[in-house]
Amino acid sequence: MNFTRRQFIKNSLWLGSSLFLPPSLLYAKRKKGERWIPAYEKLEREGKLAQRIKQAYAFFENCQLCPRKCGVNRQKGEIGFCRAPLNPIIFSYHPHFGEEMPLVGANGSGTIFFSNCNLRCIFCQNWPIAHEGRGTEVQDEGLADMMIKLQRMGCHNINLVTPTHVMPNILNATRIALKKGLHLPLMYNTSGYERLEMLKILEGVIDIYKPDMKYMDADKAAKYSAGASDYPEVTKRAVLEMHRQVEILNLDHQGIAVRGLMIRHLVMPNRVAGTDQFVKWVAEALPKSTYVNIMAQYRVQYKAFDYPEISRGITVQEFLEAMKWAELYGLTNLDPQSIALKNFYRYRQSL
Ligand code: SF4
Repeated sequence: MNFTRRQFIKNSLWLGSSLFLPPSLLYAKRKKGERWIPAYEKLEREGKLAQRIKQAYAFFENCQLCPRKCGVNRQKGEIGFCRAPLNPIIFSYHPHFGEEMPLVGANGSGTIFFSNCNLRCIFCQNWPIAHEGRGTEVQDEGLADMMIKLQRMGCHNINLVTPTHVMPNILNATRIALKKGLHLPLMYNTSGYERLEMLKILEGVIDIYKPDMKYMDADKAAKYSAGASDYPEVTKRAVLEMHRQVEILNLDHQGIAVRGLMIRHLVMPNRVAGTDQFVKWVAEALPKSTYVNIMAQYRVQYKAFDYPEISRGITVQEFLEAMKWAELYGLTNLDPQSIALKNFYRYRQSL
């Protein structure tokens, strides 16, 4: 392999700048002192946020909040595919330091983990939360209080993990929290399995979208995500809509994300995730400067042990192959930690 010690040092110096210097040196776009106004605050000033909440809540009577379109009346206690009741169930909320660097900053991402899920992958890393619904049921006022507490802890954003099935509650809680002083960017951290109609309701509310793009193949999506064969096409449309609303990632003068799209893609064993097609699609459908995190942390979890194709972790070679495709298709805003890992593995191979 043509990867010399000199090249490693050169790349490490460049990478060091992206990992350890203030990201503002790389991304600065906002002027110091300029007040950041979250999208939902602007929408409230325009008098439109209350109407969005009403519009979203109406879907609980005949639940069509996600592509499963169960049609159950959650106002009357009926339960659909996601098994979610009317009120959100929260597993935990806390500053999270395991997210991408522009979200974590010095004080962490203010993460709220919602229980239950509308996708229900058989390799889910959070299966006790997503599949078993563990957690505590709260009213929208309680959810708003959690947002405020996270803000008081110094978190840089409100990170809503698996929000799709509780979207109306989130809107209502955000408005309640806004009246109590919430001013952080709101991040929709989703599996990507989203209906366009629901995303339109979120336009002007959400500041940061962080969707997964898990598969590019309908059969694999159906096999590993409870029959969701439409996942690739649904997710492509959803990501395009998210980009239309918030565009590429925008950071403040301290390098903290305030608005934009961040896509996550988990490399899976035996090319199950279709990483080559994923990066090709991003390169052709979106700006090449779209923030993309190609992740190496696949672990065999939950029912994945029963599926030989995905019953092992990924190899170094599989991760390097994924990163090579991203480079070949010219993606220019890859997550710095994935670049660091790639450089580390390439260096080790060169020894
Ligand atoms: S949010 Fe839940 S109940 Fe509503 S359509 Fe989706 S899976 Fe069904």
